[in-house]
Amino acid sequence: MLAVDLFWKSFFREHDILIKWLLLLAGASLFYLWLKGKKQTKLNVDQAAKAKAERARISESEAVVQCHCCLVHLPKSGAIVQEERFYCSKEHLDCLDARGWLGSAAWRISPNQDARPEGLAPDLVVIHHISLPPGGFVGRNCTQFIVDFFQNKLDPAMHPYFEEIADQKVSSHFLISRRGEVFQFVSIQNKAWHAGLSSFLGREKCNDFSIGIELEGDSECPFEEIQYTTLAKLSSQLQAMYLNLQFVGHSDIAPGRKTDPGVQFDWKKFQVKNNIPVEKLPFGLDPR
Ligand SMILES: [Zn+2]
Ligand SMILES: [Zn+2]
Repeated sequence: MLAVDLFWKSFFREHDILIKWLLLLAGASLFYLWLKGKKQTKLNVDQAAKAKAERARISESEAVVQCHCCLVHLPKSGAIVQEERFYCSKEHLDCLDARGWLGSAAWRISPNQDARPEGLAPDLVVIHHISLPPGGFVGRNCTQFIVDFFQNKLDPAMHPYFEEIADQKVSSHFLISRRGEVFQFVSIQNKAWHAGLSSFLGREKCNDFSIGIELEGDSECPFEEIQYTTLAKLSSQLQAMYLNLQFVGHSDIAPGRKTDPGVQFDWKKFQVKNNIPVEKLPFGLDPR
């Protein structure tokens, strides 16, 4: 036993340097393995994140949506998106759907509406103008006030004129802004509250059988070219749905009470741009 102890003592003494080197080497190896393991873990996390992103990308592009117009299903990546809605084609985006809504319009549903009389389809388009506050559109974008007004959300504190009108419950089917944007508030199958006390060739209550289109503007400023272009397109879309439409101004069906769309509205330009037969404009083409 003593001999063994002596052997080891003499062994350690003689190989002191070698043992230190071996210990150093072992320590370095352990450090290397630890570092490698750490790198590998990071690599695994990165790869998992990449795979997850790729899976999300694939499932996003393969997500199926439904065309709001024809109800066909199609990949989301191939659909046209308008607000929260999807359309299968430009044609269907531009069309009035089965519920009476125009795909390409901004939908801002108004509470000021009710049902048309049973079985009555519209056969009249009433053109109006509106600006809030009056003339406010010159040099700035005031369209939102009109949108708010038709949704009963107009803030009376914003302008003295708003105080006067904020409680009125009115609407229109469409509004065409100075920039040619189209807003829709009521389905054309329903009655919007735009005409008020009115009579068209002996027929009272024009809201029952008409579609109201408001142009942002007044009696002072000419309407914008893009408003005529948009109005022509909208008129064609409506005529495609209702073949017997006639076109009048609000002042034609409520004379003495209403003056819009006013002298600035160019009936001749409207008729030519849209190629409307003149007999569909029973009050003629003169400014009024
Ligand atoms: Zn479609
Ligand atoms: Zn009007």
